[in-house]
Amino acid sequence: MSLVEPQTAVSAQTMRALTLVADRKIELLDVPAPPPPAAGEVQIGIKAIGLNHLDVWGWRGMAFAKRKMPLVVGVEASGEIRAVGPGVSGFRIGDPVVAYGGLTCGTCKACREGRDNLCENVAGVMGFHVDGFARDLLNMPARLIAPVPAGLSFRDAACAPIAYGTVQHMLFDNAKLKPGETILVQAGGSGIGTVAIKMAKAIGCTVITTVGDDAKAVKAKALGADHVINYRTDRFEGVVRKLTGKKGVDVVFEHVGPDTFNGSLLCLKRGGRLVTCGSTSGQSTTINLFQLYLQQYRIFGSFGASMRNIRDSLDKMAAGLLPVIDTEVPLAEFDRGLARLESRQVFGKIIVLF
Ligand SMILES: [Zn+2]
Repeated sequence: MSLVEPQTAVSAQTMRALTLVADRKIELLDVPAPPPPAAGEVQIGIKAIGLNHLDVWGWRGMAFAKRKMPLVVGVEASGEIRAVGPGVSGFRIGDPVVAYGGLTCGTCKACREGRDNLCENVAGVMGFHVDGFARDLLNMPARLIAPVPAGLSFRDAACAPIAYGTVQHMLFDNAKLKPGETILVQAGGSGIGTVAIKMAKAIGCTVITTVGDDAKAVKAKALGADHVINYRTDRFEGVVRKLTGKKGVDVVFEHVGPDTFNGSLLCLKRGGRLVTCGSTSGQSTTINLFQLYLQQYRIFGSFGASMRNIRDSLDKMAAGLLPVIDTEVPLAEFDRGLARLESRQVFGKIIVLF
């Protein structure tokens, strides 16, 4: 007995934290557990983490993004309330929650107006610039926490802060997608691609999507996509022109980058909107300015979401618009999940379970 007790005491004060220690090198470390939450904070026990391309960029390193190491990884997560700090109302121990991954100031004009992802004093994106969610416990400002509606799993809720929130923000705040419009969703098998297909179909849009193989084409059809183009066997620009009677689509949902960007512009109708949140195929491309202004295209760069977008996303999930899950992996195999995501051999989201 006397040997067991000290171990128990130690384990109560330390916790697991999945930590990036060098490019492509992640270790599961024992680190001190956080103190009780301060005023205005809650303590969360993490249950599930959704993997995103942001994780892949952080893992393999980016030339222009300065990061500190060691860094606790994980950019979006769900968990449950473990402790409530002084002055916090609306949360109780055991409540399921998700957390906003940007450390916004909460006081600048953008924050006060609910445009959280335009915060003028953001202290960093968790899991990328500052320590993220892949740890047993963490303290967060209660204003950055959203309650999870009853009946949703931790696995599904983990997709709300980034995958769902980002798409909600892109489609409805930026591109202002309307019922009955036609949208081209690039890379419809990706985590955000699957969400975009489902959200656009849910309001009655016609959805055209691109995928990289025939197996994914079958799955994208099953999600509700009206037309699926295998971009490896067909030029998607030509197929979209044919499908829309040479008119083009109202909106393009982009996140692939140089490989598809100019083709995506060619798919737009005059005055059409392109919204992009990613560039998985590279960082730079050239565009034809003549075409841009003559065709009166509107191009939106989009990053992250507002707290409202995350709450709306959770409501959509509760109403049945659930994420497509590609794989679930245990915490110790976080980097296997990243390698799978990097390979693009995925359909839907990869979730890491605690
Ligand atoms: Zn702010």
